[in-house]
Amino acid sequence: MTNELDLDNLIKQMSIYYPQADFDLIGKAYYFAKEAHQGQKRRDGEPYFVHPLAVANTLARLQLDDKSIMAALLHDVVEDTRYSLRRVEKEFGREVAFLVEGVTKLKKLKYRLGRQKYFSENLKKMFVAMAKDVRVILIKLADRLHNMETIGYLTNEERTKKAKEAMEVYAPLAQRLGIGEIRDRLEDIAFSYLYPKEYTWVEEISKGHFEKADKYLQKVKEILRQYLKEQGIEAEIHSRAKHLYSLYKKLLLKDKDITKIYDLVALRIIVNTVSECYETLGIIHKRWFPLLGMIKDYISLPKPNGYRSLHTTVFCLEGRITEFQIRTWQMHYEAEHGVAAHWYYADEKRREHQLDEERIRSGFKVPAHVLRWVEELPKWQKEVKKSRDLLHTLRIDALGDRIFVFTPRGDVIDLPQGATPIDFAYAIHSFLGDRCLGAKVNGKLEELSTKLKNGDIVEILRSKNERKPKKDWLNFVKTTHAKSAIKKSLQSKI
Ligand code: MN
Repeated sequence: MTNELDLDNLIKQMSIYYPQADFDLIGKAYYFAKEAHQGQKRRDGEPYFVHPLAVANTLARLQLDDKSIMAALLHDVVEDTRYSLRRVEKEFGREVAFLVEGVTKLKKLKYRLGRQKYFSENLKKMFVAMAKDVRVILIKLADRLHNMETIGYLTNEERTKKAKEAMEVYAPLAQRLGIGEIRDRLEDIAFSYLYPKEYTWVEEISKGHFEKADKYLQKVKEILRQYLKEQGIEAEIHSRAKHLYSLYKKLLLKDKDITKIYDLVALRIIVNTVSECYETLGIIHKRWFPLLGMIKDYISLPKPNGYRSLHTTVFCLEGRITEFQIRTWQMHYEAEHGVAAHWYYADEKRREHQLDEERIRSGFKVPAHVLRWVEELPKWQKEVKKSRDLLHTLRIDALGDRIFVFTPRGDVIDLPQGATPIDFAYAIHSFLGDRCLGAKVNGKLEELSTKLKNGDIVEILRSKNERKPKKDWLNFVKTTHAKSAIKKSLQSKI
């Protein structure tokens, strides 16, 4: 059951990292969502409101802003209750409504599992379409995480489907955004449903090892703390156990022999400055000999998702092979919160300017390291796609000029800025283009010359009979593809 204590806790948590939050409005969102879902139950019999509340709590753990928390509380209201998006906007403002709308749209995406190529293609496009406001993806991830945590009440078939989606879509997404905590949990839950035997096996063989390792690590920590103190370095040292799914993958590579896995448990050293990171690395190497090729400098060369730390694996006490990870507090925070951390920092700057409507509509600036990641898209796509439409693919380079719109089934179509429903129809099939009678954009009938926007859902109304395109379409279509298809149809005899 949920009660006012939950709201108190949420507010308490937020006031630590976001004291400037609009707590009155958060309270209002809490009661609004609770009332809206009144009487609805989850599959496990819990009141439905438990779910949006859990999503909001996850986002508070990631230290997101008040708008995200409100959108999390309200994320299922438009889809599942009598309240409209307009009402949400009226009560909570444009920005919150914009986030809720984004999450509602993402729900319409369907993943066709089993058709790997097609599916991963769609996934990546979805990223780009939505990356304009990363918060939408973060809400979606938290949403899926809670659904996975409460998956027990679904049928076997539904569970398998959800687990696959978590493994193939959401965990890689969390990984890409650098949110290790969510990725690990999604993977472990999905792993337990998809491969129950293997899961039990890994759980059992690792148990004893984790316990033994723990005693040993206490000893190492003690010694290391002393070394660092002598050098005047203030440090916090944690030990970290590998999560089960990544342990499983590693075991498969190492002949299923757990004694060959050196980072089963790693020591994490958190210091104050970057130069202390390198000093600490030197201190460790002076005492314990490093394994060749196992020193990784992710500070000079961060991972694509922005991860920074120094890693080294050494012959430690009693000759035992042990991994160390060294980082500053800021790196640590970023590693745990990923893109959320970057968003948070960017937000500080953002707050200095008054937001205007246009900026809200067009989304916020994407943090630099996400941009790096978006820039990699053409490369990934090249890996996946064959020459069939390579040219088409490469154009994603010019991300700023592209928009991504959805079919009613959730497929993503990418088009240049300024494209119209006619361009959309021809992008799907010239057959559909020729027969186009009208178009619904986000459920509303619109002119065929309407300029589409990122994230629009477009439905083409088509004639049952064969038809020729209208000549005046040529005056407003944007893509060369549509232009040449229209000309071709006009010239041909029926
Ligand atoms: Mn939900």
